[in-house]
Amino acid sequence: MKRVLLFLACTIAGAGMVAAQNQPIVLRVSTLLDGKGHALHDTAVVIEGDKIVRLDPHATGRVYDLRGLTVMPGWIDCHVHISWHFGPDGKNAGQGVAKNESPEQAFLEIAGNAWDTLMGGFTTVQSVGAEADAPLRDAINRGEIPGPRILTAIRPLSGGGRGNRSPEQIREYVDQDKAMGADLMKIFASESIRTGGKPTLTQEQLNAACDEAKKDGLRTLVHAYGVAVKMSVLAGCTEVEHGMLMDPADLKLMADHGTYFDPQAGLVQNNYFDHAKEYLGTPGYTEEGFDAMRKVLPSDVAMIKQALATPGLKMVFGTDAVAGAHGRNAEEFIYRVQQAGEDPMRALVSANSLAAESLNLQDQIGSITPGLQADIIAVDGNPLTDITAVRRVVFVMRSGTIYENHVSERGRMFRR
Ligand SMILES: [Zn+2]
Repeated sequence: MKRVLLFLACTIAGAGMVAAQNQPIVLRVSTLLDGKGHALHDTAVVIEGDKIVRLDPHATGRVYDLRGLTVMPGWIDCHVHISWHFGPDGKNAGQGVAKNESPEQAFLEIAGNAWDTLMGGFTTVQSVGAEADAPLRDAINRGEIPGPRILTAIRPLSGGGRGNRSPEQIREYVDQDKAMGADLMKIFASESIRTGGKPTLTQEQLNAACDEAKKDGLRTLVHAYGVAVKMSVLAGCTEVEHGMLMDPADLKLMADHGTYFDPQAGLVQNNYFDHAKEYLGTPGYTEEGFDAMRKVLPSDVAMIKQALATPGLKMVFGTDAVAGAHGRNAEEFIYRVQQAGEDPMRALVSANSLAAESLNLQDQIGSITPGLQADIIAVDGNPLTDITAVRRVVFVMRSGTIYENHVSERGRMFRR
C-alpha cells in the first residue's frame, strides 16, 4: 500500500514537472540589446522549445528575472581554434593530440575549451581548421557534451612549399573538404606574421580556391597580410582575416566588394605574450616571431581605427582564440573599444547580427527576433557604458537550454 502511494505521489509530482516543462520560458528584462543596434526596455522574451517566439511584457510561464542585467543575443566568434590546448607538460600542444599526451587527455582538454567558450557567453564559434573540430561539433550537435554551435573548416588550404598545388588540384582539395563535412574553407594566402606575412598563393591559385568553394556552397576565410588582402578581395573570397601590412586603400576595396573583414585588436597577441613560456620553443613559435608580433601590434590597432572610419566596411568579431584564450574571447571587445576606440554598441553588433550575416545564418542566430534560435546571454552591468561588463556573463542560454544561471528567480546575483 505504502509503495502504491509513493508511486502515485511520484507520478503526480512527475506530471507537475512535465506541465512546468511545457510552459514557455519567460526572461524578464529591464535592458535588452537586440543584436542589431537597438536597446529595448522593460519587456520579456518568450521562449518555446529552442526558439524565441515573441517579446511580451505580460507573458507568464517559467519566469527568470534578469532585470538589472544587460541581456543580448549570445555572441558569435568568427575565428577561433577551438581544439588548441596546452598539453600535460603545460606547453602548447597545438590543435590535435600532442606526442606526450593520450587522445583521451587531448579530447578532455578540447571539450573543456568548448565548455569555457560557452560559459564566456559565446553560443556560436567558427573554428578555422583542425580535424578534431568535426567530432567535437558533432558531439555538441547531438547534445552529448555542452558547447557552442561550431562551424568548422576541418582542414585548411595552405599554399607555398610542400603545400603547392595547381589550380586544378586546389579545386579537388576544396571538393574533398566539402565531402569531409566542412562548413567553410579556410585558406592561408600568406605566411604567418611571425615570419613576415609574405603571400603563399598566386592570384590564379586563390581564384581557383574561392571560385570552387563558392560552387560548393562554402564560404571562404582567407588568412591574409599585405598584398594578399587585395588578392583575396579580387578573387571574390568571403572574408579577410588579420589584414595587417595591407595597403590602406584595400580597406575601401573590401567595403566596395562587400568582403567581410576580421582583424584582431589585442586578445590573441596578448594571450601569446602572457603565455610566452608555454608557446616558445613549440612548432612555429620563436623569440624572433614574438618580436615580430610585438612590433606590428601598434600598426594593427592603427589599421583597425582606419577600418572603423571606412564607410560600409563590414568588420566582424573574430578573436583567433588559441590555447590560453578560450573562454576569454570577450576580452577582444575590451581591446576594440579601449584600444581602437570602437563604439561599444557597434562592437557588440559585430559579434551578433553582423557576425551571423557573415556566416549566412542571419535567419537562425544573431538577434532577438521571433523565430530565431534562443541563444541569449546576460551580463552584470551595462557594456554600453562600461565595456568590461562583458567579463561578467551570468546567464547563458543556447537553443532554449540554460547552461549558466547565476541569478536567482528573485533577481539576486550568485557570484562565482
Ligand atoms: Zn587563426
